[in-house]
Amino acid sequence: MSKPKISIGALGGTICMSAGGNAGGVKPSFSAADLIAAVPVLKDMADIKAETILALPSGSLKLDNLVLVYRWAKEQVKNGADGVVITQGTDTLEESAFFLNLIWDEASPLVITGAMRNADNISADGAGNIYASVIVALEPKSRNRGVLVVLNDTIHSAKWVHKSNTFSLQTFVSVNAGIQGLVVEGSAKYLSCAISRKIYSLPSEVFPKVAIVQSYLDNDGEIIKLIGGSKFDGIVIDGFGAGHVSFEMMDEIKKLKIPVVVSSRTGSGMCATKTYGYKGSEIDLQNSGCVMSGWLSAVKARLLLMILIANQVSQQEIKNEFENF
Ligand code: ASP
Repeated sequence: MSKPKISIGALGGTICMSAGGNAGGVKPSFSAADLIAAVPVLKDMADIKAETILALPSGSLKLDNLVLVYRWAKEQVKNGADGVVITQGTDTLEESAFFLNLIWDEASPLVITGAMRNADNISADGAGNIYASVIVALEPKSRNRGVLVVLNDTIHSAKWVHKSNTFSLQTFVSVNAGIQGLVVEGSAKYLSCAISRKIYSLPSEVFPKVAIVQSYLDNDGEIIKLIGGSKFDGIVIDGFGAGHVSFEMMDEIKKLKIPVVVSSRTGSGMCATKTYGYKGSEIDLQNSGCVMSGWLSAVKARLLLMILIANQVSQQEIKNEFENF
C-alpha cells in the first residue's frame, strides 16, 4: 500500500534557528530538509515533501507571504498531499493561523507549528513539534477543521489560539474555548468537534491598511487623530475592559470616516454590547458607528477587518460578520 503524503513548508522562526557556534544570538540557519532530517521516523509515517519557502523571523512575515503559503499549500493538496504542515516563528503564529483559516478552502488539514527552543538548546522542541504536527495532519479526524496549530502536543483551532508566554513550552493556549485535542502516544485525540467557520474570498487587490491603537490611562486620542488624517483604511481600537475608550479617544473616534472595530485589551472574554452607557462605553461607541470585536483580540480583529474591507463589504455587513464570528 502506498504511504500517505504530507508536505512540509518552512517559513523560518526559532524552529530553524541556531547560533552555529557563534556569539550574537540565533538566526535562521536550517532548511525544511534539515528540519525533517531531525525526525527520522517521518519517513516511515508518510511520503514527505519538504520545501523551504522563506527563512524569516515571524515578526517580519507579510500578508503577501501568507498568500503565497496559501497558494503553495493548495498546490500540495492538488498534487495529492493528505495534509500540509507549515513551520514558522511563534511570535506571529496565531495571526498566520487566523488569517489562513479565514481563506483555507480545503478539507485537508493545514497544520502550523514552530518551536520555543532553538536547535542549540538542550531539549529543543522543534523535532517533537514537527512529529506531532505530522501525526495531526495524517489523522482523518483532522479533516474539515480548517487551520490547526500544534505545539507541545496540544492541538488548537486557529480561532482561539494565542501565544501567552515569552519562553514557556506551553505558551500556546486557546483562550475562552479550550484546546481542540492532544497528541497522545503517537495519535491525535480530539476533545471537541470542529469549530464552525466561514471561508472568505481571498482579495485580489492589495490588502487595506488597518491600524491597531492601544487604550491606556490618560490616552488623549492624539494617535487616533493622526490615523484619521493618514492613509489607513480601517482601525481597531484595543479598548479597556469590555471594550471602552477614554472621553478624548471617543471625541476623535467620532470624527473618523473609516471603519472602526473595538476589542478588549484584557486578553479573554467577549466585548460588551449593551451594558455600559457612559461616554466612551460600548453603547456610545456603537451609537457612533463602531463595531465591537466580540471574542476577537485586536490582532485577530484586524485581520478579519482587512479581509472584509478588501471584499468591499458594507458597514452593516462588517457589524454582522463580527457579531456572527
Ligand atoms: N521567537 C520566535 C519563535 O518562536 C522567533 C519568530 O517568531 O520568528 O520562533
